Amino acid sequence: MVEETIMEKIEEKAEEKAVENHKFFDQKNCDRCGNELTARITSWFTTDTICMDCSAKEDEIKEKLKAKGKNPSDYEGCGYIPKTVNGKRL
Ligand SMILES: [Zn+2]
Repeated sequence: MVEETIMEKIEEKAEEKAVENHKFFDQKNCDRCGNELTARITSWFTTDTICMDCSAKEDEIKEKLKAKGKNPSDYEGCGYIPKTVNGKRL
């Protein structure tokens, strides 16, 4: 039965999403710097859950990309960030 298969897939996907959300909101510390998460956001470049300080550093990377004439959107989810930005460690 095609329809049953579709429903199973949808339920499976919804469950995966719920687990992901749970993980996101349960997480206590930043994936990147280890600081306690008072506010959280998903990294622009990776799947890390990060703090606002780390997010601000990512914004600096985005600014640098723009300064080089690149579109930061092209790098969304690329899975890589440089180790330092403007001489500061990430
Ligand atoms: Zn952080």
